[in-house]
Amino acid sequence: MGQPLATRVWRNWARTATATPQRVCHPRDLHELSADVRRAVADGLRVRAVGSGHSFTPVATTDGVHIRVDALDVLERVVSQADGSTHVTVGAGIRLGALNALLAERGLAMRNLGDIDKQTLAGAISTGTHGTGARLGGLATQVVGAELVTATGDVVQTSATQEPELFELARLGLGTVGVLGTVTLEVVPAYRLEAREEPWLLGDVLEQLDGPDGLVEANDHFEFYWFPHTDRTLTKRNNRVADDVELPLPRVRGWLEDEVIANGAFALANSIATLAPSLTRSVNDIATRTISRRRYTAPSASVFVSSRRVRFREMEYALPRDQVAPVLREIVSWIESSGELLPFPLEVRFAAADDLWLSTAHGRDTAYIAVHQYVRLPYARYFDAVERIVAQVDGRPHWGKMHWLEAERLAELYPRFADAQRVRAQADPDGVFSNPYLDRLLGSPRDAG
Ligand SMILES: Cc1cc2nc3c(=O)[nH]c(=O)nc-3n(C[C@H](O)[C@H](O)[C@H](O)COP(=O)(O)OP(=O)(O)OC[C@H]3O[C@@H](n4cnc5c(N)ncnc54)[C@H](O)[C@@H]3O)c2cc1C
Repeated sequence: MGQPLATRVWRNWARTATATPQRVCHPRDLHELSADVRRAVADGLRVRAVGSGHSFTPVATTDGVHIRVDALDVLERVVSQADGSTHVTVGAGIRLGALNALLAERGLAMRNLGDIDKQTLAGAISTGTHGTGARLGGLATQVVGAELVTATGDVVQTSATQEPELFELARLGLGTVGVLGTVTLEVVPAYRLEAREEPWLLGDVLEQLDGPDGLVEANDHFEFYWFPHTDRTLTKRNNRVADDVELPLPRVRGWLEDEVIANGAFALANSIATLAPSLTRSVNDIATRTISRRRYTAPSASVFVSSRRVRFREMEYALPRDQVAPVLREIVSWIESSGELLPFPLEVRFAAADDLWLSTAHGRDTAYIAVHQYVRLPYARYFDAVERIVAQVDGRPHWGKMHWLEAERLAELYPRFADAQRVRAQADPDGVFSNPYLDRLLGSPRDAG
């Protein structure tokens, strides 16, 4: 008998994608994962792996077999390397929060993280998830090995020296060359960060961004949020400090700002803006006036990660770093002249150039501009306008977030795009791991073969 409909229906966090696969699998190890893929292929069904559904697009959807990887979440091994670094191998379905806890217990940590920890490791690396830091890359740059089940059901080990081309798409390839079973990360000794959060005027931030002593270079992790219809931002400077530097955040104040202001009052502000759009400017004005200064130290993961309970839609573009100020000024001016009323802030982050084929920071020091819209408000006109502005500086869209680019344009933006298409076509000539969204994004593997 087939699985009941209720257990098969799936939708993503942002409520922008749904799927009703014919079958759902929950493999607990590589052996079961391989059997699930083989059976799908024998039944003529397509396969998509799905993590925690935190991508904003239909990238993980399928009408064939959904492989939900949550049960692949064990710590397999921790190996000290001759060069002093440490490699940790974990099940690819582990949530980042659980991974951070496992690492902390062993005196270890990820080199950098994004804003939340609900994603699976596989999902996060597959879409190029990143945090901020001028000298640091996204999560996939921390991957040194990956074990995946390919379209033939075989288990293949990949790394910079084993199947290096396949490794490129295993560590950042939207699940197009197989289903990840385990991932090996290079991790670092646990560290503490001093967090410094301050309200700044947007003009001051843009003026002080660049140069060797600028905000981006002079901080390990710098980011800021700009609130539309105001000239105010929230800046975040997180820097490594020695383990004995203790600057605790008073418990009540931390809770008040994180839970009541960042989530509770923010939810209220968005509801007001939805019911009475004309109040959006006043709401943003009041919201930005409540931002206060905070300074505290804590283990890295708890500084990076916050909770996001207000649901939204998001588009994020990677730009050459030196373009961020002019692009942001153009977006600000479009918002003011367009009449769009936007209760959600824009987020600006930074990353070092890397050489991963499909990394949004491939070959260039990068700034990210993320635009958000509350889940109950229209987003298309705003996102479309921002997409047209960033196109002028060859912006590259985040692989897990909303955008309207297709293969032809993406090929112009990524120097190794044709190589990625070739490797995908070799690994999966029949498009077992494809869906219509991916075919639009990357072309059909049958055409590239
Ligand atoms: C509230 C929120 C905050 C976010 N914050 C950030 C942020 O700070 N920085 C940032 O860069 N992004 C951020 N994102 C985006 C998010 O990190 C990515 O979309 C990420 O892919 C989500 O991981 P997931 O586990 O939900 O994967 P899913 O969305 O479920 O899947 C993503 C992709 O991974 C593939 N996949 C999943 N598991 C496997 C597997 N085992 N093998 C092969 N492929 C697999 C899927 O097929 C799909 O292509 C955020 C998203 C939300 C909703």
